[in-house]
Amino acid sequence: MDTKEKLIERFVRYASVPSQSDQGNEQVPSSPGQWVLARMLREELEGMGLTEIHLSEHCVLTARLPAKEGLEGAPAVGWVAHLDTADIGASDTVAPLLIRNYSGGDILQDAEGTRRIPVAEHPELERYIGDDILVSDGTSVLGADNKSAIANIMCALQKVTEEGRPHGDIYVAFVPDEEIGLRGAGALELSRFPVDYAYTIDCCEAGEVAYRTFNAASAVITIRGVNAHPMSAKGVMVNAVSLAAELIGSLDPDQVPEKTEGTEGFVCVTSVEGDVSRCEIRLNIRDHDRELFDEKKSRLRELCSLIGERHPASDVSLQISDTYSNIEDSLRGKSTVCVDHIFRAMENLGIPPKDIAMRGGTDGSLLSARGIPVPNYFTGAHNFHSLAEFLPLSSFEKSLEVTLELIALSCEEGSAGTN
Ligand SMILES: [Zn+2]
Repeated sequence: MDTKEKLIERFVRYASVPSQSDQGNEQVPSSPGQWVLARMLREELEGMGLTEIHLSEHCVLTARLPAKEGLEGAPAVGWVAHLDTADIGASDTVAPLLIRNYSGGDILQDAEGTRRIPVAEHPELERYIGDDILVSDGTSVLGADNKSAIANIMCALQKVTEEGRPHGDIYVAFVPDEEIGLRGAGALELSRFPVDYAYTIDCCEAGEVAYRTFNAASAVITIRGVNAHPMSAKGVMVNAVSLAAELIGSLDPDQVPEKTEGTEGFVCVTSVEGDVSRCEIRLNIRDHDRELFDEKKSRLRELCSLIGERHPASDVSLQISDTYSNIEDSLRGKSTVCVDHIFRAMENLGIPPKDIAMRGGTDGSLLSARGIPVPNYFTGAHNFHSLAEFLPLSSFEKSLEVTLELIALSCEEGSAGTN
């Protein structure tokens, strides 16, 4: 089996395990399918001779491929991928289809063509004429997010061990529940993942590199009002819903997702729930720039006290929790070798890099906040979180080549004895 067929075989096997995460379940992992996939991977890692294999009570699977003799001085490099797929309200069962030698036009996802990826809506498809393309049957996501990364990492480990390629210490971590708030990366025990730096392989088309992500926090504002019967409400009632409207109306109307792009940040009200006596507002705070991010949080604090002062009988409380950080900040003042290597690897492989400012976060954004720099590079797939998700094999192979090149580059560092 050549490399391409190996990638296909692994991908289809992993994608066929239903492992949607479940936002409604507070436990980690949030769904049983993630256990099935983690156990399958554990067995395969054992088969490849990895050591320190550990599957935690939270379904975090970690393992180590010890450095080859003479390369113990190379930096320890990790790879992180997530076990779950996004719940977009479609089927949890994924039946991947392989379109061989795509000849252009709509991709049919069933025999009758009632389900299809229309080229009119996805003109980028035509860039892959002549390529083999993986798609779902149109009833679910494909799950290239993030199972292409799992297949990529597993193929790389297989190749490195079978072919006796040079490598330093390599660690892998397969984590659950990325899609519902990076929970698995939060549950990763860092003592089982003692790396100098690591990579995620998440999102998007060939060449994409993301190490600039949002700083992110979520906020909950609880407003307590005073209820009263209309007979005696005058001067007494403090309507929590009105106060919530007043507060939301005081937010900057231009700093919202629908009016910002690139590295621009926002405050987004995600839900308002309540009645006269109690109202809860949930918000997301995002900004690439740490200072502007902190300013947004301070502004929210000020607003809450202002509303409280204006309505002394009310009680306004604010809780802000940081969710993840801009990976770029974690590199400040430190070695940027992990990012430099991605660009070098792509240059060596002739892949034009696209350095994108991500309007979101990855497991790497959370791990970077925990002290490990974790930049991201492409899976090669398009249209994540959609029935039109598709993965061209040429891009999938390029993504694997980057992984192998990164392993090779980290060894060079080892021989120089630096990090
Ligand atoms: Zn993902």
